[in-house]
Amino acid sequence: THRDQDRALESRDGGPVELGTTMLPAVPGAFRNTPDTDLSTAANQAWAETVTHRVRTSTLGDQEVADARIETVDGVQSVIARALEAQQDWAALPVQKRAQVLRRAAGTLAAHRGDLLEVMASETGKTFDQGDPEISEAIDFALYYAEQAEQLDRQEDVAFTPRRLTLVTPPWNFPVAIPTGGTLAALVTGSAVIMKPAPQSRRCGALIGRLLHEAGIPEGVLTLVDVPENEVGRALIADPRIDQLILTGASDTAAMFASWRPELRILAETSGKNSIIVTPHADLDLAAHDVATSAFGHAGQKCSAASLVITVGSVSHSRRFSAQLADAVLSLHVGEPTDPTVQMGPVIEEPGEKLASGLTELGDGESWLARPRQLDDSGRLFSPGVRAGVEEGSAFHLTEYFGPILGVIHAETLEDAVRIQNGTAFGLTAGLHSLEPAEIAWWTEHVEAGNLYVNRGITGAIVQRQPFGGWKRSAIGQTSKAGGPNYLVHLMDTADAGSAL
Ligand code: GLU
Repeated sequence: THRDQDRALESRDGGPVELGTTMLPAVPGAFRNTPDTDLSTAANQAWAETVTHRVRTSTLGDQEVADARIETVDGVQSVIARALEAQQDWAALPVQKRAQVLRRAAGTLAAHRGDLLEVMASETGKTFDQGDPEISEAIDFALYYAEQAEQLDRQEDVAFTPRRLTLVTPPWNFPVAIPTGGTLAALVTGSAVIMKPAPQSRRCGALIGRLLHEAGIPEGVLTLVDVPENEVGRALIADPRIDQLILTGASDTAAMFASWRPELRILAETSGKNSIIVTPHADLDLAAHDVATSAFGHAGQKCSAASLVITVGSVSHSRRFSAQLADAVLSLHVGEPTDPTVQMGPVIEEPGEKLASGLTELGDGESWLARPRQLDDSGRLFSPGVRAGVEEGSAFHLTEYFGPILGVIHAETLEDAVRIQNGTAFGLTAGLHSLEPAEIAWWTEHVEAGNLYVNRGITGAIVQRQPFGGWKRSAIGQTSKAGGPNYLVHLMDTADAGSAL
């Protein structure tokens, strides 16, 4: 109707019409996750259309690329000195005051949902259906860490001391939630933060920086930097005044940073090679759907993405599951993020050697269940690819491709399937589809991954309910999960306020 459209236009920058905002949590004081945009209403559909139509011409974040552009090693010195100075007053504030700023930040992010969606899509190709929950997650991080900080402050037996300076180096694939989460977690503890967005998502970083300052985080307490990835960047990472680094990115990057300064405290969530096991006791329709969305959401460019499905026993021998999987995959709506109904968008850049080989070269015994095709001249838009007959120990079993390509491996038994699932160097996410309690129990006991999902897709961790973190080569440092109760504790120094015990 007309009214719906008026409302949608009015909310252009204010965001979609939110449902349920007047509902009270079922348990007083319980954490309540932020709802994603409800696209069942005409008003919100119209709003999503206006947001995605702005993507092609978006210049958001262009003006304010950083608080500080560091060009020299001297520049590193002055940014750090300023941050350390600003940190003193920030750390002197009562925790409640810092928590209040985080709650304001949640409001500011919510009020700019449309802007954030626009800049994410325009800069990184992220589609509306992937970007929208990411913004909810960023808001959740703000609210959750505010609450956690206040809770820790009430603990009388432990004294927490902030570390003075935290460097946050987020990835481009979650260019809103991950930088926001890491930054706000460190800030609420009383640390100053230097945040360096990934080069592919500078504009997202710039917009987040502006919104966080707008919410009341002082200049200097948070410094968004633009720093070249050469000896200047290295001087920043290796500076002994940086107390800790929160990194999400490739395992190799984390290892390189660690080699530059071995004593640097690093909390890193890194690469993955994740799989979903489907047993004969699975709901196959649900499994096919969950595998398809876990593999191809954001064109497979998530550390958490499924890149293998391991079919057990009769699931591989009958053709039913592979036919359903092929149908689910080929039904995905692939396109540019200028249309809110698109489920799989372009990859961030033209595939490099590794992804290109994953999209084109078959290993021994492999065949295409769905052959990936390049869909336009950009070199970045592909239809989803599925290869069958992947062998244990093959390149496809062990390599992370970070793109829209999935492999099917066959296992005779659940034990074999778990050996294959655990057989990579990584341990980030892992899934099981089975309705048999004994299988679920056995699997949970034996699988080696940071995040386990049963009868659900393996991406899209949810703050507080499903904290997210890696294991094995998917992490460095203490295994503390983002969005979980131990995250802030690992960012601070603790002293036992009681006896020597
Ligand atoms: N937290 C994201 C998820 O659960 C993954 C983050 C990543 O790819 O680094 O899907």
